[in-house]
Amino acid sequence: IASPILDEDGNITMWVGSTTDIQGLKEEEQRKNDFISMVSHELKTPLTSINAYLQLLLRKAEKTDDQFLKQAYAQSLKQVRNMTEMINGFLNVSRLESGKLHIDKTEFNICDLLEEIKADYKIQYSSHELIFTSPQSVIVCADRLKLAQVLNNLVGNAVKYSGNGTKIYVSLKKSENRIRVTVKDEGMGIKSENLTKLFDKYYRVQQESTIGGFGIGLYLSAEIIQAHGGKIWAESEFGKGSTFSFELPLK
Ligand code: ADP
Repeated sequence: IASPILDEDGNITMWVGSTTDIQGLKEEEQRKNDFISMVSHELKTPLTSINAYLQLLLRKAEKTDDQFLKQAYAQSLKQVRNMTEMINGFLNVSRLESGKLHIDKTEFNICDLLEEIKADYKIQYSSHELIFTSPQSVIVCADRLKLAQVLNNLVGNAVKYSGNGTKIYVSLKKSENRIRVTVKDEGMGIKSENLTKLFDKYYRVQQESTIGGFGIGLYLSAEIIQAHGGKIWAESEFGKGSTFSFELPLK
């Protein structure tokens, strides 16, 4: 935006203005990404080693009668895994920003993937009842690891943002040319004015919530689903619960 500077006769003597240095902003953004990526890589190395040692210690403790030791190691392992997941999230954001998030498509049965997630969550969360509804087999052509990440995000959020003892419904439905997966919880819900912002980078409804997180899970999930030519959305009744759904086209 520029404004003219006039002399006493009303002639323009010069223009003053400000320009937005887009190139500069991009470089700054790139530096930030590189920094996040470097920090994340550096943090992963010690975490991998802590993870390996804790697994060894847990195995040793399991051979004893020391309940406290077993629990302490198991709990530490769980936290190390949480931390690794968070760091992976940051790495994925920086990969995405620099165009390095690749989608590796293979053909697989997505119902098997749901079964795996169900089995994992049975071990990790006894606090919620997970109810899965899915056909036996639906073959999709997609990036299996990335879809697993999306499903883990959605189910993980459902657990995180709903009270103990509530139910979580995960369902997969197939129509002629697409599949739809929904994850429904009976949790705190989201006000309608916040629904559209959920998939923005770093957005959290309550920034200073006691529930931890960085607001990148849904952003990454949306990018992954969009990269597959699908869509993702949320519906909610505040105070009653939320439903997250995504659709993927079938070949
Ligand atoms: P994070 O959970 O790490 O903050 P996400 O990107 O996964 O990041 O979610 C963004 C925000 O959306 C969360 O901070 C939370 O406010 C809201 N949210 C996500 N899932 C749910 C849910 N199932 N119920 C209520 N709020 C949710």
